[in-house]
Amino acid sequence: PKLVYDFAEGNKTMKELLGGKGANLAEMTNLGLPVPPGFTISTEACKAYLSTGSVPAELADEIDHHVDVLQQKMGKKLGQADDPLLVSVRSGAAVSMPGMMETVLNVGLNDDSVNGLAHQSGNPRFAWDAYRRLIQMFGKTVLGMEGDVFEDAIEAAKQAKGTSNDLDLDADDLKTLVQTFKQAVHDHTGREFPQDPRTQMDLAIEAVFGSWNSERAILYRRQERIATDLGTAVNICSMVFGNLGMDSGTGVCFTRDPSTGQPGVYGDYLQNAQGEDVVAGIRNTVPLADLEQIDKTSYDELMAIMATLEGHYRDLCDIEFTVERGKLWMLQTRVGKRTAAAAFRIATSLIDEGVIDTDEALKRVKGAQLAQLMFPRFDADAEKELITKAIGASPGAASGKVVFTSAAAVEAADKGEKVILVRRETNPDDLHGMIAAQGILTSRGGKTSHAAVVARGMGKTCVCGAEELEVNVAEGTIKVNGTVLDADATISIDGTTGEVFVGEVPVVASPVVQYFEGSLDADSGDELVASVHRLITHADEVRRLGVRTNADTADDAARARRFGAEGIGLCRTEHMFLGERREAVERLILANDDAECEAALAELEPLQRGDFLELLGAMDGQPVTIRLIDPPLHEFLPSMEDLAVKVALAQERGQDPGRDATLLAAVQRLHEQNPMLGLRGVRLGLVIPGLFAMQVRAIASAAVELKSQGKDPRPEIMIPLVGAIQELHLARDEVTKVLAEVGVEWSIPIGTMIELPRAAVIADQIAEAADFFSFGTNDLTQTTWGFSRDDVEGSFFSRYLEKGIFAVSPFESIDVEGVGALVRTGVDRGRATKPDLKLGICGEHGGDPDSVHFFHDVGLDYVSCSPFRVPIARLEAGRAAL
Ligand code: ADP
Ligand code: MG
Ligand code: MG
Repeated sequence: PKLVYDFAEGNKTMKELLGGKGANLAEMTNLGLPVPPGFTISTEACKAYLSTGSVPAELADEIDHHVDVLQQKMGKKLGQADDPLLVSVRSGAAVSMPGMMETVLNVGLNDDSVNGLAHQSGNPRFAWDAYRRLIQMFGKTVLGMEGDVFEDAIEAAKQAKGTSNDLDLDADDLKTLVQTFKQAVHDHTGREFPQDPRTQMDLAIEAVFGSWNSERAILYRRQERIATDLGTAVNICSMVFGNLGMDSGTGVCFTRDPSTGQPGVYGDYLQNAQGEDVVAGIRNTVPLADLEQIDKTSYDELMAIMATLEGHYRDLCDIEFTVERGKLWMLQTRVGKRTAAAAFRIATSLIDEGVIDTDEALKRVKGAQLAQLMFPRFDADAEKELITKAIGASPGAASGKVVFTSAAAVEAADKGEKVILVRRETNPDDLHGMIAAQGILTSRGGKTSHAAVVARGMGKTCVCGAEELEVNVAEGTIKVNGTVLDADATISIDGTTGEVFVGEVPVVASPVVQYFEGSLDADSGDELVASVHRLITHADEVRRLGVRTNADTADDAARARRFGAEGIGLCRTEHMFLGERREAVERLILANDDAECEAALAELEPLQRGDFLELLGAMDGQPVTIRLIDPPLHEFLPSMEDLAVKVALAQERGQDPGRDATLLAAVQRLHEQNPMLGLRGVRLGLVIPGLFAMQVRAIASAAVELKSQGKDPRPEIMIPLVGAIQELHLARDEVTKVLAEVGVEWSIPIGTMIELPRAAVIADQIAEAADFFSFGTNDLTQTTWGFSRDDVEGSFFSRYLEKGIFAVSPFESIDVEGVGALVRTGVDRGRATKPDLKLGICGEHGGDPDSVHFFHDVGLDYVSCSPFRVPIARLEAGRAAL
């Protein structure tokens, strides 16, 4: 199979094969934009390398051929002493992973050709700078050397020269630096820096392949739920130089503001600089608008290209470009990452501009983004002490203790502390710390800096370029405008306004939540709220899935209803046995005979009835699925250890432990090795006489009372943890009997949860006795995998995620292959028996975007999730229907 493609051979649809960068370089080449010629080595070659540990044999020939073609096109050769062809070796996966993988620039320079480059360019300083960059990048990326080795040497050279500016180092200084770097390479690897350009290229290609599995890339993929086996492509791109002088430069830009979505020209430009300089935040950039003064021709051309790209991709594009002595070159484009707010605003702006239709706009926003817009904001009316204001690079309101290193951030987060990671600038090695922190604050860099880009991608709050901050890592202090903060100080950062405050600033509901709550109108003038309104309204129009909520109290139910829930999919009745009611429950458990048992139940019944009156009242006219009691009884008793200690103490003091002793005996009697697999759910109902009957009486009589008030209560009774049809028959008979006794004159649906693999497999039988199924995917995941959720998530799951056994916890997002197959079986078999069987899901997965799509595909009638996830489920259900 073909492994290498010339830029002219690809297009933007070939991302999987050519990676995003390669596919888009190809697209731009074919659009006739000024892209330096080159070729792309496909992800297939990388996959082969990753599985065998060596590059495929046929790759070398293909590369030879493409290098020949490139040399002819450029009229110069790799390593040609008088005028060398130089290339970059750039990683580029199908899914963008900004800054996660490696790139080596200036490949092809060596001790001879550096002189040729110096001569050709008439700029020896530039040539030596390019050579030292090559050795530096090659050392770090290919040879695995510490970046500090090189950075310290540069620092020393600058000190010797008495300057803090890279640009003050002249050709001779850089020549000396090259010697130092080469020596460092020798010291580190025991070998010389490779002089043969093709060797440099091959090693760099291998390193890029290998960088797919670098620690930080693995971590990033896990965070972003990117598959582990996609591999990266490698782009070989002829070099253009932004560091040839002040008439050259390099920049990054967006066709719209990636943080707000507002149209306009956004970007950063740096004169006399190469590649990474802009993103690394090493020197401060100027706003792109300044390029108009610096080089109007290039600026105008760039503006025209930006318009072309936006029109072509019909979306916000993010662009890397370089100006080489007044000539503009395009080095990369992609549909740009954006904040959640920008995603909504851009989507609706593009509808208004006639670029996309509403369906397409809905496809472009995600439930996870909506979730972000529902995070709280700082309270505008709270008293705050502003210490500085910088660039709001990734929105959100974050407070926490100041930490200066990623290690400290991780350590604190492990202890459950909230921290703000404060850095001069971040680099890809800070990923751990950025994930652990509530927010990131940097003193350098703009909206396109590493911190900003990565934070936006992760939805983390970030303020950057806070130049007034004097961060002293050694002393562990921050000085700002006369205030000194140490590492234990708490600060608050506002990623929208760029404000930084001392202390923890109180938060309030975001405008989007206010809109869902009904306290802010869609047409109040808040453009973001208007966008959300338009898209969620459209989602409601197109979705087939119903959205219910999991709620146990009238308050939660009422909120969920405001958020758009169309009923309750799961009301857990457990909490109704807690608090002050504990004692009655204890009496039930301790009952010595039927009479005591009945008395305890009789005590609980009116309390339950009151709960149901409120809940059914709050959800008047909408279905309320009430699950009969599920957890094992001992969960309602005090802990065995505590009791044992109390009893032992009493005995030691010669006192009568009294009731505690009785309780302890009960707890010991009820103790189970695996309560999750023990006496719970329907089993409990069948074993404790009168328990289910009491609950059903409470539900039924509440419903009858509401009916008599002219209301429209719609309870549905759900029996948990059924594994055998006999269980359901017995429970159902009891329920039916009680309903008749209470005198319910309409039909209350009686259904079951499908949460055991056996239930899914015999769903055809179960459907005979069920009016509805609700897939309990939490338990179904536990019982299918044999994982105890409470035990595994905090213990070995992180290792499983690291090892790629799964990309995301199966408790968070439905395991489509395994648990999903059981859901599908349950759906198919259940409907085979009863075509109009109502089907829902009430596990945690009901509010998870990917899972919602699966539940749509599998043909469920509704999903049920926690109140705050309801808008997210509505949006995703709409997207799933497109
Ligand atoms: P990343 O994916 O981290 O952005 P890139 O492959 O895009 O990595 O390259 C890193 C930097 O080097 C970018 O700023 C890019 O524009 C620049 N660069 C890459 N190839 C070339 C080239 N052929 N000529 C000039 N600059 C380049
Ligand atoms: Mg790039
Ligand atoms: Mg369950």
